[in-house]
Amino acid sequence: MRYTQFLIPTLREVPADAEVVSHQLMLRSGMIRKLAAGIYSTLPLGERVMQKTSQIVREEMNRAGALELTLPFVQPAELWHESGRWNVYGKELLRLKDRNEREFCLGPTHEEVITDVVRGLISSYKQLPITLYQIHIKFRDEIRPRFGVMRAREFIMKDAYSFDADEAGAERSYMKMYAAYTNIFARLGLRFRAVEADSGPIGGSFSHEFMVLADTGEDVIVICSACDYAANTEKAEILAPDVRDAAPDRFGVLERVATPDMRTIEEVCSFLKTDPASVIKTLVFDTGDGAVAALVRGDHDINEIKLKNYLKCSELSLADEELIEKVTGAPRGFAGPVGLRGVRIIADYGLKGSINMVAGGNERDVHVVNVNMSRDFSVDAFADIRLAGDGDACPRCARPLTTTRGIEVGHIFKLGTKYSTSMQAQFLDAQGQSHPMVMGCYGIGVGRTVAAAIEQSHDSDGIIFPAPIAPFSVLIVLVNPTDEQQNQIAADLYEKLLGHGVDVLLDDRDERPGIKFKDADLIGIPLRVTVGRNAVKDGCLDMKWRKTGEQVQAPLADAFDRILEALPNLQ
Ligand code: ATP
Ligand code: MG
Repeated sequence: MRYTQFLIPTLREVPADAEVVSHQLMLRSGMIRKLAAGIYSTLPLGERVMQKTSQIVREEMNRAGALELTLPFVQPAELWHESGRWNVYGKELLRLKDRNEREFCLGPTHEEVITDVVRGLISSYKQLPITLYQIHIKFRDEIRPRFGVMRAREFIMKDAYSFDADEAGAERSYMKMYAAYTNIFARLGLRFRAVEADSGPIGGSFSHEFMVLADTGEDVIVICSACDYAANTEKAEILAPDVRDAAPDRFGVLERVATPDMRTIEEVCSFLKTDPASVIKTLVFDTGDGAVAALVRGDHDINEIKLKNYLKCSELSLADEELIEKVTGAPRGFAGPVGLRGVRIIADYGLKGSINMVAGGNERDVHVVNVNMSRDFSVDAFADIRLAGDGDACPRCARPLTTTRGIEVGHIFKLGTKYSTSMQAQFLDAQGQSHPMVMGCYGIGVGRTVAAAIEQSHDSDGIIFPAPIAPFSVLIVLVNPTDEQQNQIAADLYEKLLGHGVDVLLDDRDERPGIKFKDADLIGIPLRVTVGRNAVKDGCLDMKWRKTGEQVQAPLADAFDRILEALPNLQ
């Protein structure tokens, strides 16, 4: 491609509303332009990157035996009523009506549509298993679209769905996708981790998020410093501590103390001159089927998802003022386990063996000090119900966990029979018995993956594209296009590379060299070859690698071979 025939509208200034570097660089390099909040046009340079990324995804999906199709973007409401999601999906689902007042939505995901397609086409165990996928538009009316295509409202997703005859088959399909995702993100040249995610009522290890490691990531992930355990914060477990109860001779005298209007851990700590690790935080939850008091140490945070899974309840929310009063006899801020009756008390492992703690007194403006579990109250159970953090013990090997940040680029999930049951996607087994198909779903955000790659690979001058998704492999900078000889040398090299199927961009613009080199760094093509005065005078070309900054001079006669040699690492 010749630059003068292409469209790369680079920007010098950092756009004001772009907070993260990938968003800034995608705008500045002319990959995207904003149309409305969370809605972007992908320009030709960005399109090349998106297509290269999609192609790698497609190749690995095909290799795993998945079949590509395209599903409609506009989906009839009836399907969502059938699955039961029309009224629960919330505002991310953009609903609309056609001229006949029929309700539709823009597809935020395609479980309903694919289940409808498959139930109409598959009726026998002989047709299973099958995995189908598309690479297509999604629309989610995100509450806070931001970071450009990273959290957009309209975006491209690869979504795949597997259908199996039984659980064991569904698990095999899941593992195939796990392997395919690992190949995809490795081929894309990304530093990533597959982390365990909460799989809700299905349980087990059947939800993984693929996280690109980046400090700017919105997600916190927990990684073991010694083994390969990794999970997102919702899911990350902590090993049960091996702590004995403290000896009673160390117990202080239980006392009620006045704490006027001191409701938060910070207020209580500064008033009583103690630290949060010496406080029992008591949180009252409504399970929809009675209240539960959860206890965590004052310097720890409750993990509501772990608590909900532990309690095996379908709903869980923090109690409102009324329920707190009813359970504790006091307004919010003064709940404590001493004297608490009529509710289950679940204590986090972190409180095991703690002595002489501070807790709420179940009375307005009162706390109690020197609270000791074995003497002053008892709990129904100890459980792992807090958010894991740095230094907590790995559930697999007991070594310390560490936290780091990531960007979720992919998510694989075993669905079970949720949709096949509600939508009647059945098949007949060898005995003629009817069963619901066992499903899985698997997503990759293509635009988010590109943004994550840039987030991970850039410098102060611009993007450093991982070679597999670079819009071009080689950039030839023709320093002076009005110089006949330079022009000829550059054109010859360009044609020769094109003839060998190399993705090459020739910067033949009549611009100052400084501008060309700045743009070259900004758009981040892996190898830059400069045809300037040296080429004519000494028969030498400059080759410069964007990633390492390494620069060599190659004699004209060798240049073509040198570039081809470098290519396996650049394509
Ligand atoms: P998030 O937690 O970030 O909102 P999600 O859990 O809703 O994502 P999934 O439903 O698992 O996302 O979608 C699969 C993939 O689609 C995600 O892993 C991500 O790469 C991509 N994706 C989801 N939402 C967006 C968005 N608003 N913009 C761009 N990509 C997205
Ligand atoms: Mg997800």
